[in-house]
Amino acid sequence: KQEVDELQVLQKRVDEFDPKSTEAKTFADLPLSQPTAAGLQASHFTSLTDIQARAIPLALHNHDVLGAAKTGSGKTLAFLVPVLDKLYRAQWTEFDGLGALIISPTRELAVQIFEVLRKIGRKHAFSAGLVIGGKSLKEEAERLSRMNILVCTPGRMLQHLDQTAGFDADNLQILVLDEADRIMDMGFQTAVDALVEHLPKTRQTLMFSATQSKKVSDLARLSLKDPEYVSVHESA
Ligand code: ADP
Ligand code: MG
Repeated sequence: KQEVDELQVLQKRVDEFDPKSTEAKTFADLPLSQPTAAGLQASHFTSLTDIQARAIPLALHNHDVLGAAKTGSGKTLAFLVPVLDKLYRAQWTEFDGLGALIISPTRELAVQIFEVLRKIGRKHAFSAGLVIGGKSLKEEAERLSRMNILVCTPGRMLQHLDQTAGFDADNLQILVLDEADRIMDMGFQTAVDALVEHLPKTRQTLMFSATQSKKVSDLARLSLKDPEYVSVHESA
């Protein structure tokens, strides 16, 4: 009962927060769950970067977001924070299956995202895993059905969705495409298209990129619904 009240209070804080406002300067200014706020604090993240200040409020309001900002601008937290809070507010549990899927172009970037997720997600009870190959498909498959959040590379994830019995993404709440420009440059368009075919249409999608290009907007057209565009430029 107390938990329910707490969730209602949190939801009200989100509803009352103008998603287009750029007033928030710190994570504490945002309507975030207690475990996310505590995980950020324990990881020594306090101030918001520009892309975080603009993208997180929109994402918390369930908008699809296409975010562009140069490398090093803090895009990882711009999607990990909304991922954690979306599942938290949905009271996601181990029985609900895969709630969030984060697609990265390379294994190395996937590992980096996973490490940030483990740090800031430490106060949450979600299970999270990496799907980047390197182990046998069978070994990976055995752990998949227990995962709430997966960070993956496109080819390997598609292999599981096509072949792993008893695993599906029918409940998925949120999809993240990170480094969308590199996903396209590395020739993953077909794999991502096929992946998206396995996902429910009612999900939220966040897409981030260091550069804007025709290929990125093509991918956005296919996977995002009426997105909010957030582009952060360096001031001259
Ligand atoms: P991008 O994905 O845009 O290239 P990252 O998410 O990898 O950027 O972040 C780049 C660096 O900035 C990382 O070392 C990260 O820890 C740091 N960083 C991100 N957000 C913040 C923040 N709000 N406060 C302090 N450092 C941050
Ligand atoms: Mg990045």
